[in-house]
Amino acid sequence: MIALSAIEKSFGGNAVLRGIDLAVPEGRVTALIGPSGSGKSTLLRCVNLLEMPRSGTLDLGDIRLTFRPDRPPTRREMLAVRRQTGMVFQNFQLFPHRTVIENITEGLVTVAKWPQARARARALELLERVGLAHKAGDWPANLSGGQQQRVAIARALAPSPRLLLCDEPTSALDPELAAEVVDVLASLAGEGMTMLMATHDLRLARRVADTVVFLEGGTIVERGPAPDLFAHPKDPRTRRFIRTLL
Ligand code: ATP
Ligand code: MG
Repeated sequence: MIALSAIEKSFGGNAVLRGIDLAVPEGRVTALIGPSGSGKSTLLRCVNLLEMPRSGTLDLGDIRLTFRPDRPPTRREMLAVRRQTGMVFQNFQLFPHRTVIENITEGLVTVAKWPQARARARALELLERVGLAHKAGDWPANLSGGQQQRVAIARALAPSPRLLLCDEPTSALDPELAAEVVDVLASLAGEGMTMLMATHDLRLARRVADTVVFLEGGTIVERGPAPDLFAHPKDPRTRRFIRTLL
């Protein structure tokens, strides 16, 4: 179980997350939806400590972190959390001066201290998995957006994280290329990968998410099983927002 309790985050005087309680059961997928500025990206970034919550608790497998303004997590705690989370960004964020396979081996070799040969074998296995083994030696710039995002997913999965975080993974892609990425994420979900994703993409959320959480103004307004929440949103704010997605 991955759990966030009473997570609060502010930027200066701007309270962006106002007491978020959220559990993602192992092997399940939760989609965060909500208007621009509602705090979706910030919430994802708090889970892998790209942002530091002001207070609250994060449970990630065996790790429990309680955030306090006067006690930042130790380096060891940060590494442990980062090790258990993979992140996929809207704009892929591949290393432009590394080949496709090097994008995947880089972190394994420099951070996780894997030997090159083992890292390459793992990278090839993952490239196979996302249908891109034939692109191993190419530069990211020579790939389509959908292919780049599939490489980014392979890179995020390389150290076998417990949780995959995806921030609008299909938003930068034309529908046809987005579909390739949805296929990969759906097949990962089918294999039991635990995921927390922010998305405006109804196709993605409908196909992959078990649970949908609607966030507005840094607060969870409503949550429920994906088909129910989309078909019968209870809160008028959720209803209004879902209409904007259709
Ligand atoms: P979108 O749908 O546009 O991606 P979002 O739900 O992901 O929106 P966030 O990016 O989490 O929203 O932003 C939530 C609020 O936090 C916004 O008001 C934003 O301006 C603010 N914010 C986010 N990051 C920072 C930062 N590094 N410094 C200051 N304010 C920030
Ligand atoms: Mg965002």
